[in-house]
Amino acid sequence: MPSPSILFVDHSAALGGAELYLLDVAKHFRDRAAVVTFENGPFVDRLQAACIKSQVIAAPASILEVRRDSSFLRLVAAVPALCRFAFQLVSTARDYDILFANSQKSFLVTAIAGVLSRRPVIWNLHDLLTDDHFSAGKRHLVARVANACASRVIVNSEATRKAFASSGGRRSLTRIVYNGIDAADFDVSPHDVQTVRNNFQLQSEPVVGVFSRLASWKGQHVLLDAVAALPEIHVLIVGDALFGGDVKYARTLRQTAEKRGMAHRVHFAGFQQNIAPYLHACDIVIHTSTAPEPFGRVIVEGMLAGKPVIATKAGGAREIITSEQNGLLVAPGDSAALRQAIVSLLSKPDMARALAQRGRQEAASRYSLEKMVEGINHVFQSVAPPVTTA
Ligand code: UDP
Repeated sequence: MPSPSILFVDHSAALGGAELYLLDVAKHFRDRAAVVTFENGPFVDRLQAACIKSQVIAAPASILEVRRDSSFLRLVAAVPALCRFAFQLVSTARDYDILFANSQKSFLVTAIAGVLSRRPVIWNLHDLLTDDHFSAGKRHLVARVANACASRVIVNSEATRKAFASSGGRRSLTRIVYNGIDAADFDVSPHDVQTVRNNFQLQSEPVVGVFSRLASWKGQHVLLDAVAALPEIHVLIVGDALFGGDVKYARTLRQTAEKRGMAHRVHFAGFQQNIAPYLHACDIVIHTSTAPEPFGRVIVEGMLAGKPVIATKAGGAREIITSEQNGLLVAPGDSAALRQAIVSLLSKPDMARALAQRGRQEAASRYSLEKMVEGINHVFQSVAPPVTTA
């Protein structure tokens, strides 16, 4: 069967986990694919740098301003704009065999464009459709649109699949494809690691790091609570507020560090294009999400860097980490349990080393780029239109 051509669609041009995933996917299919985004931004720059064909079809503000915490009514009010905007996508869509939506907002537009252009639509669902993240009305609406318009729904974990089904989505549409991450990206030179340590004047004190966009549900404040009573520990906070609503949270984090007299040992590194040397500069990598994480790329990245990882026991993190086998799990939002886990790893270096070693091996074999591409290819072949022979 000839290889189908693919139009990837993502509403965002920020560098979130879903866009970093799409960057790797699109790299593999770049000879027969293009990526459409609804705005310009760093993701588009990264696509261009990787020689991936891209196009910005600017969406009206009424679409871009629908956020994950917007009300159901706001979403319904945006439907006419979504339909009008879908018409703009149709002429590009007709040049490709398969349409692949990489976000919820882009899925709603692509679903309509798929009907109009008679192209199969795949939705790669990166979100957990649960009450923690979305209103019931919104969850049920997108699940119903998926039932009606999607040929397949790729989910990034069993947890995401379960939430989709609980929201009314058809389980038979789903295929799990875990994020694949290139282990080679996490081999870094000692010089690069030393540069990071020098930048923050880190000496021999223990360093724990958290790597995520700054957002309340990502829980960086829980780590500050956990280490408040551990004065010898330094904290590296890598990431920034990616979306407007999170800027206030980012400011509050900095103020908390100041108020608690921790500013000298809480280091804000901002968003980094390459987090690998920062991971290596830490003794422990910590994931602090207070709500269930759909997948949690940073957990795998910490493991690939050969670091012991502590993550919160919910959602996709539970599929990646088996506590005391390849990392540690603690209850979300429980700063006392997190403190205990940090102290335990620092006081038992042999155990920390064993967890890190096993974590690295498992992450490299379970979350490889090859497995991810194979899974996606499978889905492409299953929805590709049949070839007609003369
Ligand atoms: N990340 C990054 N620079 C930063 C902080 C994070 O490139 O300063 C990346 C991180 O390496 C990971 C992604 O952002 O690949 C976050 O993905 P994850 O699944 O953990 O969370 P999401 O942002 O999708 O909720």
